[in-house]
Amino acid sequence: MSYVDDVYAKVVAKNPAEPEFHQAVKEFLETVRPVIDKHEEEYRKVALLERLTEPERQIRFRVPWVDDKGQVQVNTGYRVQFNSAIGPYKGGLRFHPSVYFGIIKFLGFEQIFKNSLTGLPIGGGKGGSDFDPKGKSDREVMAFCQSFMTELYRHIGKDTDVPAGDIGVGGREIGFLYGQYKRITGLYEGVLTGKGLSYGGSLARTEATGYGLIYFTQELMKINGIDVAGKTAVVSGAGNVAIYAIQKAQELGMKVLTCSDSTGWVYDPDGIDVKALKEIKEVNRARLTEYKKYRPNSEYHEGRGVWTIKADFAFPCATQNELNLDDAKTLVANGVTAVCEGANMPTTLDATNYLKEHGVIFGPAKAANAGGVATSALEMSQNSERLSWTFEEVDAKLKQIMINIVHNIDAAAKEYGKAGDYAAGANIAGFKKVADAMMSQGIV
Ligand code: NDP
Repeated sequence: MSYVDDVYAKVVAKNPAEPEFHQAVKEFLETVRPVIDKHEEEYRKVALLERLTEPERQIRFRVPWVDDKGQVQVNTGYRVQFNSAIGPYKGGLRFHPSVYFGIIKFLGFEQIFKNSLTGLPIGGGKGGSDFDPKGKSDREVMAFCQSFMTELYRHIGKDTDVPAGDIGVGGREIGFLYGQYKRITGLYEGVLTGKGLSYGGSLARTEATGYGLIYFTQELMKINGIDVAGKTAVVSGAGNVAIYAIQKAQELGMKVLTCSDSTGWVYDPDGIDVKALKEIKEVNRARLTEYKKYRPNSEYHEGRGVWTIKADFAFPCATQNELNLDDAKTLVANGVTAVCEGANMPTTLDATNYLKEHGVIFGPAKAANAGGVATSALEMSQNSERLSWTFEEVDAKLKQIMINIVHNIDAAAKEYGKAGDYAAGANIAGFKKVADAMMSQGIV
């Protein structure tokens, strides 16, 4: 059996009932196969892939808290410190009822290579809880966050592990988590990113993942001879990534026709009204059914369906496995030019392969959505030097990082005879730096 197949079989056997983690490892191993084959003997001897697929540390803990009725609730907290070869663990916290080790490990594994692609010194980690912030009062969210941090604080630190937000964890949650960390440790340090501007946050961090996705797409289209201005796009999601992707896409002259949340989706033939979307989601924390009140010409549909609308670009920005093979077939039949992933692993493996086989330009998540973590690393730099950069400075750095990522993944794909396969390029470029560092640091 080849080394790649051997390791994949071990991962499945050692981590049963974690299909999302298996999927992330499989996608990665398949695409880095040419690099592994070239160094097979050397890597096998030091069990490089076995070490890469085994987290350095996995923490699971009890999170008890009291709800508004006086009832004690118990959730489970997780932090997976996956790989610190190139820097302190860095990766978000996800609060969603679907969270368990399989989700956190898939996200943590992807994060290793994404962080490597940014060119900044950050390792890979991820965490979260099965807590659902939806429908909870601010006091309940605070009680949960304080209890969560009461255990997590002992595992993190500005030079060891620096969490951030993800699904269900935005500015409000980061604020409560930071307050509790500071209260317990007495340290005012950059231990979390995505902080508020009044206590160490970076300008442009809120916008970074969505803006970065669009800067990435603009550059990727440029090297393929395509101008994004005047094109149409479909977006899924209506959260942090989706909102700022829509905003930047429209600023650059694209018309975005759709967005969605976990219950339904909106089609707006005149282009999504970002101001209305922000008010509904960021201020009122309401459902997308509200959108029609602002834009009577739009349509609201229950369930899922954004991929049925004809457009030049598709940007999945909600969650994992939200774009399946049937959706890919519909997109191809509608003549889509490119799919660039804002969410993590939103496209299933068979859908990704179908898109690539049919000539669709595919921008993989670990490259396309790396702008968020890159700007988090810029927040860490500002915290360390006790300075705040202007919005323009951070945004310019973000844009340059996304441009560099496009050229790096393009070059890596070409070097291994896979020109135009940007998923392979991203995995290869991300992997090589981490592998070099691991090889230099001995058996740890
Ligand atoms: P948010 O919680 O702000 O928004 C998530 C959006 O997706 C919401 O509109 C939510 O609907 C919808 N959604 C979530 N779960 C599901 C589901 N199971 N089915 C359908 N819709 C769903 O999260 P973010 O925007 O921060 O994250 C979105 C994606 O981007 C995730 O995959 C995340 O890992 C990834 N990402 C985020 C980064 C960041 O900086 N925030 C950085 C890199 C990647 P509803 O409004 O109903 O909750």
